[in-house]
Amino acid sequence: MRKRKICVLGSRAVGKSSLIVKFVEDHFIEPYYPTIEQPYFKQVPFKGVEYDVSIIDTAGQDEYSLLSPKHAVGVHGYILVYSVTNRQSFEMVRIIYEKLKAFQDISHLPAVVVGQKSDLVEKDGQRREVPAEEAEKLAKERSLRWIETSAKCNANVARVFDMCLEEIEKS
Ligand code: GDP
Ligand code: MG
Repeated sequence: MRKRKICVLGSRAVGKSSLIVKFVEDHFIEPYYPTIEQPYFKQVPFKGVEYDVSIIDTAGQDEYSLLSPKHAVGVHGYILVYSVTNRQSFEMVRIIYEKLKAFQDISHLPAVVVGQKSDLVEKDGQRREVPAEEAEKLAKERSLRWIETSAKCNANVARVFDMCLEEIEKS
């Protein structure tokens, strides 16, 4: 069995836990429970091989948070989450990326940038604060993958983890 460790980072309340719980346990929780720090486990078939994936949920970062070694040591790939309805959370992805790069000293970071809560902007375009094109550009310039998701509507949830494994396996 191949073991891979994925760490999920981003501002508070962008839907990190919801994305993980939807993927691992296939349900969606409406109320907000701030996360402490929790690992989840799931066996994921990827290119015909079973992977033993552990996913580290984090409490959420702000610009003053220091990255802890547990967010880097033994971690194979990252999922960097923002909410498409929250500009500041998108700026945080940029900051987290810079911190990770400084911490790890590797040329290419295996990471997927994820714009969560896409369901909210489908119903009400006014709520969108992060244009898709802008996010895609940020990711492209850093050789990162990018995708928009909805944990609530199960849009692209499994795809995120598949993309992350793709990034891990090619690096
Ligand atoms: P975290 O702090 O990043 O782990 O965020 P949570 O997963 O706890 O979610 C924060 C809040 O956003 C909760 O009230 C969730 O129900 C809500 N939420 C999470 N994902 C989505 C989504 O895809 N769509 C919508 N509409 N709400 C979401
Ligand atoms: Mg959480």
